[in-house]
Amino acid sequence: MIKLNQAIEIINKQTPSVKLETVKTKDSLGRLLPKSLTSTIESPPFSKAAMDGYAVQSTDTSREFTILETIGAGEIPSKTVQQGECVKIMTGAMMPEGADKVIRVEYTERNGTVMTIKQNERGTNVIFRAENLKIGDPVLSPGIIGAKELGIIASLGLSEIEVVKKPVMGVITTGSELKNPGEKLQSGEIYNSNGFQMCAQITENGGIPKYYGIVKDDRISLSNTIKDALKNCDVLLLSGGVSKGEFDYVPEILQENGVEPLFHRVAIKPGRPTFFGKNKDTYIFGLPGNPVSSFVVFEVMVKSLLYRMAGLEYKPMLFKGTLSKTLHRKDTERTEFYPVIIEGDIIRPIKYLGSSHLNALADANGLLSISTGTEELKEGEQVDVRPL
Ligand code: AMP
Ligand code: MG
Repeated sequence: MIKLNQAIEIINKQTPSVKLETVKTKDSLGRLLPKSLTSTIESPPFSKAAMDGYAVQSTDTSREFTILETIGAGEIPSKTVQQGECVKIMTGAMMPEGADKVIRVEYTERNGTVMTIKQNERGTNVIFRAENLKIGDPVLSPGIIGAKELGIIASLGLSEIEVVKKPVMGVITTGSELKNPGEKLQSGEIYNSNGFQMCAQITENGGIPKYYGIVKDDRISLSNTIKDALKNCDVLLLSGGVSKGEFDYVPEILQENGVEPLFHRVAIKPGRPTFFGKNKDTYIFGLPGNPVSSFVVFEVMVKSLLYRMAGLEYKPMLFKGTLSKTLHRKDTERTEFYPVIIEGDIIRPIKYLGSSHLNALADANGLLSISTGTEELKEGEQVDVRPL
C-alpha cells in the first residue's frame, strides 16, 4: 500500500501526449486552456468616459464652460477642449483631445450652451487607454475556461481558442450482482449507480464518457470488454473487482491484457483497493465498487490524471473552516475523506455510515480531509475541506 501523496505524485509524473483542437470561443465553456494567454490588444483601445457628463481639462478651475459638442459611445470627437470649454460625453465614448476629466452630469447644470459646475468632482472618471491591459500583458493562466474566462477571451477579440481535446474515457462497471435502473431486482442484486455516477463525473470534468455497461465477474467477458476499451479510449475507468475477493479479477485481467501497473492499493479512505496502470497511450483506473469510494477516488485521483492529460497539474481548491463537532477514528493509517456540509465557515460532518452509504452524500457539499496519524479532530478546530 502506498501513501496518497505518493499515488498523486505518480499520476503527476505521467506525461501523456497533449492533444489540442481549436473551438469557437462561444463553445469553449468548461474546456481546458493548455497555455497562458497574453494580450494582443490594448484595453481600452482609447481613453474613454466612465460616466455620463462633461469632458474638461483637469487643470481648469473655471465654474462655467462652453459646451462644444455632444459625443455618444462609438462616435469620434471633432473638437479639442481648451480652458473654459467642455464636451458633453456619454459613458464609453472617446475622450476629446485636450480633456482628461469628466464631471458627472449630476454635479452640473446646463443652460443652453453653458455648463456650470455645482459640485466638485474628485476623480477623473476616465478609463485611460491601455489602463486595463497593455499588449503582451498576461491575461489567463492555463486551466478551466469558466464564464469569466470566456468573457475575457472574447474581450481580446478572439473568435476561436485552442483548447485541450476532450479525452475519451471508457467506463466498465463490473459485478454479477448489478442491474440497471429500470430493471427488476432479483434476490441478491442491487442497482448499478457507479456507471451513471462515473459517466456524469467524466462529463462534469471535461471528458467524453464511453460506457461499456455492466460486465459480470467472469474472466472471459471482462477480458473481451477490456481489450475493446483499451483500443478505443484515452482513459479507462473500471468499477468493482479490484479488492481481495475471489472474483476480483480486474487487476489480473488488466495485466493479462498488457496493462503495466503503476500502483495498486493506496492509503486512502474510502478507496484503498484503487488500481492505476498504463497500456501504450491509455491510462487505466480500477476503482472500488462501493459508490462513495468510486466517487471520492475520482475526485482525489482521477481528476489529477485529467489535468495531466492537458499537461497541467491539478491543485485542489481547499477551504478552511471550523469543525462543528469532534470526530474520532481508529484507523489512522490512511488519509480519510469525510462528507461534510460547509455552512459559511462552519464545517458540519454529516451522518455517514461508510462507503456504501451513497445517499449520505446528498446533502454534502465538501469532503473533509483527515491526514494519516490523526486520531481525533476536535470541535472548534480549523480543518481543510475540498468543496464539491
Ligand atoms: P467490489 O469492489 O466489486 O468488491 O464491490 C464493493 C461493493 O460495491 C459491493 O457491495 C458491490 O455490490 C458494490 N458495487 C459494485 N459495483 C457497483 C456499482 N456499479 N454500483 C453500485 N454498487 C456497486
Ligand atoms: Mg464486485
